[in-house]
Amino acid sequence: MRWKTHKVITGFIVFTYSKEVIATISAILGSVFPDAIEFLVYGRKIPLWKHRTLFHWLFLYALILVLIFLNTPYGVLRATCINLRIHPGTIGRVPIRILGSYLIFWFVIGAMLHILEDAITGKVPRPYSFNYKRKDWGIELFRTGSVIEWIIFVVFSILFVLSVYWRFR
Ligand SMILES: [Zn+2]
Repeated sequence: MRWKTHKVITGFIVFTYSKEVIATISAILGSVFPDAIEFLVYGRKIPLWKHRTLFHWLFLYALILVLIFLNTPYGVLRATCINLRIHPGTIGRVPIRILGSYLIFWFVIGAMLHILEDAITGKVPRPYSFNYKRKDWGIELFRTGSVIEWIIFVVFSILFVLSVYWRFR
């Protein structure tokens, strides 16, 4: 799946659920992380056997969620409770530790959604297996860069815009 498609699907899901701009921006940044980190670690030409392995392993991100919860439960509580969310107007008054865990929470959710989105265009490692090098989880509903992906991109872009419109109208 292309980055722009990851961004609009994740943006739509997180904004519609959270109704919060900061959470959505963080999740959109996270929505390209599993691929971006591969470029950083392995270089521009990623060997095929390394693509979609460790950094596309859901278990790793679930572990990060548990760790930030154990470290800053209140930050995760604010990220998940609708009436505690951090708005652009209140961001300056939030302690940095709480804000950090809030932003990381949504970033990690974005990365997890990326993996689920990849799992419908091919294979990723099984979340419940420690063998993250074996990519055999997922079904290819459509190909990356295909007409179907383009249609999905357009549909989710429209949904995303409508969702933002309904929130702020
Ligand atoms: Zn990917």
